[in-house]
Amino acid sequence: MNIAVDWRAEAKRLTIRNQAFIGGAFVPAASGKTFPCTSPLDGAVLAEVSECDAEDIDRAVTSARKAFDTGVWSNQSPKQRKRVLLKFADLIQKNANELALLETLDMGKPISNARNGDLRAVTECVRWYAEAIDKLYDEIAPTPRTALALIEREPIGVVGAVVPWNFPLLMAAWKFAPALAAGNSLVLKPAEQSPLSALRVAELAAEAGIPAGVFNVAPGFGETAGQALGRHADVDALAFTGSTEVGKYFLKYSAESNMKSVSLECGGKTPNIVFADTADLDAAARGAADGIFYNSGQVCDAASRLLVEDRIHDRFLSRVMELAQQYRPGDPLDEKTRRGAMVDQTQTTRVLNFIEKGQQEGAALVTGGKQVRRETGGCYIDPTIFDRVENSMAIAREEIFGPVLSTISFHTPEEAVAIANDSKYGLEANLWTNDLTKAHRIARALRAGTVTINNRDGGGIEVPFGGYKQSGFGRDKSLHAIAKYTQLKTTYISFG
Ligand code: NAP
Ligand code: MG
Repeated sequence: MNIAVDWRAEAKRLTIRNQAFIGGAFVPAASGKTFPCTSPLDGAVLAEVSECDAEDIDRAVTSARKAFDTGVWSNQSPKQRKRVLLKFADLIQKNANELALLETLDMGKPISNARNGDLRAVTECVRWYAEAIDKLYDEIAPTPRTALALIEREPIGVVGAVVPWNFPLLMAAWKFAPALAAGNSLVLKPAEQSPLSALRVAELAAEAGIPAGVFNVAPGFGETAGQALGRHADVDALAFTGSTEVGKYFLKYSAESNMKSVSLECGGKTPNIVFADTADLDAAARGAADGIFYNSGQVCDAASRLLVEDRIHDRFLSRVMELAQQYRPGDPLDEKTRRGAMVDQTQTTRVLNFIEKGQQEGAALVTGGKQVRRETGGCYIDPTIFDRVENSMAIAREEIFGPVLSTISFHTPEEAVAIANDSKYGLEANLWTNDLTKAHRIARALRAGTVTINNRDGGGIEVPFGGYKQSGFGRDKSLHAIAKYTQLKTTYISFG
């Protein structure tokens, strides 16, 4: 941020969009129902938001289908769609302060992360797919000379997107940017904890020239609105990001309705493996701390299992414990704050229960473990570290989705790989070593969609992201994401 912003004053000036965005306009839920959208900063109610259910989802899907069938967007040339999406990206950039503020108020992340992290990534994502879409060529198959087979990518139709609250707008953008670029219509259901930024961004999409009905946002609850979208007979593809448990429901919804294609970006339990021969152990320690405490550990690929080679264990862990103090929670609206609030009290309690469980199972709580800043009325947990964790304990097996690190020692590389792979998840793995051969050998052995070596950076929009095993299937980001929003048509012409 170049200019200092008085975020509290900005927050007072905000006009919050609180209705569903269907068919190009803000509308109340058909039932007239609303739900309170509260801020984890202090428990204040930010807005009463339209509570969509099956009837509203049906309205949104109908409007998306109509827009798709008339071709107002789906039949535009890639170059035309690119022009509109670039304008959309410009509008997101222009309104980035407002959107970042909505994220912070709604789900508690520090304003500096929302503004410099999330919003930059959202703008980049929309711009990247806009730029990509008029550079993708289709194929001609190697048939006999007496035939011509065109293999064309066509938009799949109506896409449903259901997303979580940890990076509300970014997780949505990873779906809507490639889906819109490819020519689809979309119905987005944001998480109940964080619907505000999606509602505002739908309005910006319309302002940029995305035709009415192409981009709809239906806030509401998972069991009602989310399920209705998953089961709707006229939705062609469902793109989900969230927990593994809920991801499985979408497979069932599809099977029991119209066999819509489903892609799932689900949970993780990232092993972060640190070998004694790492050249820059301090960088590894900083990576370990940031890997679990960034966004309060509410990150699908949070480095929640720290696997340390036994001979550096004590030294390394004490450095991570020291660094953890930099992540004590503070006021999310203060630009200097590095860590903010948890998303809500339910999630806070869930994390505290895991902390209790870890102690009961015999792990050593060496830092943190408590809810703090209670005087604010908000939801804050101190950075928490467990040592002497066994990989069989709940805190090593289950996705806590909070600022809780589980430390496990290992002796040999084989042991490290075995522990790392002993998980139902396979979203990401991190690895630190100065031995190039070992790094490559282990990277190959790890069952994860992304392996990072000597850093925690899994790359920007240009690289694919997604899981092995029960972390899901399908990929967000990169050109590979386009596959989820298109289908292949073969046109075979025979002139023999
Ligand atoms: P969640 O509980 O699975 O919810 C995700 C979305 O699904 C929300 O919009 C939710 O609505 C909806 N939903 C809940 N129950 C549903 C049901 N029965 N039928 C249809 N939809 C339903 O996940 P979360 O707590 O919001 O987010 C945390 C999870 O997301 C973690 O597991 C994390 O790993 C995962 N995540 C994965 C990635 C990735 O790329 N792999 C990225 C970020 C997060 P409500 O808001 O009403 O519950
Ligand atoms: Mg909220």
